[in-house]
Amino acid sequence: MSLRIVVTVKYVPDATGDRHFADDLTVDRDDVDGLLSELDEYAVEQALQISENSDDDVEVTVLTVGPEDAKDALRKALSMGADKAIHVEDDDLHGTDAIGTSLVLAKAIEKAGYDLVISGMASTDGTMGVVPALLAERLGVPQVTLLSEVSVEDGTVKGRRDGDAASETLEASLPAVVSVTDQSGEARYPSFKGIMAAKKKPVESWDLEDLEIDAEEVGLDGAYTVVDGAAQRPARTAGTIVKDEGEGGKQLAEFLASQKFI
Ligand SMILES: Cc1cc2nc3c(=O)[nH]c(=O)nc-3n(C[C@H](O)[C@H](O)[C@H](O)COP(=O)(O)OP(=O)(O)OC[C@H]3O[C@@H](n4cnc5c(N)ncnc54)[C@H](O)[C@@H]3O)c2cc1C
Repeated sequence: MSLRIVVTVKYVPDATGDRHFADDLTVDRDDVDGLLSELDEYAVEQALQISENSDDDVEVTVLTVGPEDAKDALRKALSMGADKAIHVEDDDLHGTDAIGTSLVLAKAIEKAGYDLVISGMASTDGTMGVVPALLAERLGVPQVTLLSEVSVEDGTVKGRRDGDAASETLEASLPAVVSVTDQSGEARYPSFKGIMAAKKKPVESWDLEDLEIDAEEVGLDGAYTVVDGAAQRPARTAGTIVKDEGEGGKQLAEFLASQKFI
């Protein structure tokens, strides 16, 4: 038997860098360093663990929808140990919202062929956490989301979802979509051998035409959500230093009261 796993990975702006909105209120991706969304590293890790723990033939494909530089996210996932990568890139994707992104991902997943899709719990930039559910709906398969433990056995994916008051054990028959949380297990660092091996692994590039998607269905024009405005957060002020010369506690309490914390 064989198992085809597709892991959806997003290339996101580096949160430690300066980030801006462009004039059309989309995220300005020029001159901004990006990287594989940290939360998607957990998804790659779970796919690799399923592969390593399986007696079956498992193929792990990583898939991203994003600009040219999104290849960096694919390379990182390949150097962690994924087998191959698919990059969907097209100028008409500029401004695509979550619904459009799920359409592109679903078409690419169908074209690639799959038994199991593994996503992160949310991206670290958009952070909507909706794409896995949208994908399951578009693919017409079960979704088991927000898992902190995941395994595959006999055509079934099983997992544990931890809530505040209880943990649920869930399962679904394959094909299915799952998303995993940052509690699912530390993601491995790519080894030197992995980084070298990644250079030789196949990366396919598809555009909208390859996926038979009309440009009007995606991009800013096809988006159901619109960003109406964005403003730069005010710069941080220097703060207040309380020097304790016997009255420190009182001054601290006065400061907290003035800020309405107490
Ligand atoms: C070139 C480009 C331009 C865009 N411009 C805009 C814009 O102007 N305005 C706007 O609202 N949105 C835009 N988007 C879409 C946006 O960046 C998000 O991808 C989309 O809205 C999903 O929302 P999210 O990131 O909150 O996903 P979440 O639902 O938080 O993501 C959950 C999981 O879904 C998967 N996933 C999400 N996005 C991708 C992806 N692109 N590729 C692979 N896996 C993914 C990951 O596994 C992730 O962990 C653009 C996307 C692209 C590719």
